Amino acid sequence: MGSLPEPLRRLIKELGQLPGVGEQTAERLAFHLLQAEKPEALALAAAICDVKERLRPCERCLAASPEKCCAVCSDPARDQGLVLVVESERELAAFERMGRFVGVYHVLGGRASASEGRGYAARPIERLQERVRGGGVREIILGTNPDKHGDLALGPVVQALAGSGVKLTRLARGLPQGANIEYLGAPILEEALQERRAVSMER
Ligand SMILES: [Zn+2]
Repeated sequence: MGSLPEPLRRLIKELGQLPGVGEQTAERLAFHLLQAEKPEALALAAAICDVKERLRPCERCLAASPEKCCAVCSDPARDQGLVLVVESERELAAFERMGRFVGVYHVLGGRASASEGRGYAARPIERLQERVRGGGVREIILGTNPDKHGDLALGPVVQALAGSGVKLTRLARGLPQGANIEYLGAPILEEALQERRAVSMER
């Protein structure tokens, strides 16, 4: 690879850092882009720039949005009192694909794993707390991915909401262990939502 021109080597290196892209795939993609028509290749570059430059966290739910307030939060048909807490836009997209959720979201901005000692960031939890204090929130559904070590990582979220008077629920246990919400089919997600159960806020 050392004999390749520097820009091409750089492209291979960058592509190789994407999740699921090994060295061979990175090379194949880079050579494809080298051969591609200039507008095609530049459209990809422009799309990446747009995602990074035009999207900011929604002021209410923290989901990436080109507007101050995202399309879901600013939709008058959505129930602002019903908030589904998700880990990232990937799970949000899965619930939106399902198409039956009438409430709004709150994005924690990453996956936590109690087994790996990795928790959720503090800021999104504080923002959720502020949102509840602001009034109008009736129920919060914890829609995070099931962790094989249980709901330990959710402790700080539950704690932040204790005493708020809001109803706290959790997706039904029907979710397969270690499941990725983003890959679950609409019927499973819908069932998990419909059969959600109350979470105790007492510690
Ligand atoms: Zn929003």
